[in-house]
Amino acid sequence: MADGLATSVTLSLPGWLVADLPGLPDALATPAEQMALVHRLADRNWREGGGGPFAAIVVDGVTGELVSVGVNVVLGTGISAGHAEVMALALAQARLGTWDLGAERDLALVVNWRPCVQCYGATLWSGVRRLVVAGEGPELEELTRFDEGPVVADWAEQFEARGIAVTHDVLRDEALAVYRAYGESASTVYNARGTGPVEHHP
Ligand SMILES: [Zn+2]
Repeated sequence: MADGLATSVTLSLPGWLVADLPGLPDALATPAEQMALVHRLADRNWREGGGGPFAAIVVDGVTGELVSVGVNVVLGTGISAGHAEVMALALAQARLGTWDLGAERDLALVVNWRPCVQCYGATLWSGVRRLVVAGEGPELEELTRFDEGPVVADWAEQFEARGIAVTHDVLRDEALAVYRAYGESASTVYNARGTGPVEHHP
């Protein structure tokens, strides 16, 4: 074996969020309550410096039980795939001991915008039966300067065709407020090879 090659990676939640976990509710009854937590975590995340203004949670779609939480950890870990959806889905799978989150339960991924091109795939393959998003559209890229990639125009229909019900526009204005605050800060935007789609800069 070639010397020096890495043999494992670790994607861990940031310390501030680990410290916060005991104070989180066991269940969040409504999509609005669930999204409010997502927005709170997303706003804290970029201010703590570990990654972008993105958070996601996995909840039981029937009971609202909180199954996992995730935030973007790209800057904190140096791993470009460490998006909030990947973290929440993987941590739910780790907790439940299965790669198929839809095999036995009606689980939902709740996230503060339509998933990027990477997380679109990660969500499709996770088995979740529901996706709840705060919004879609160009505002995220315009406000934050992140490149979301070439997500297909019929992304929601593609989810629905695979048995993943999509709920749109839950606390959309609150999502934009987080992105606006981030975009007006001096935070690092970590698109591949620089700061990305400057043509989107407002
Ligand atoms: Zn993503």
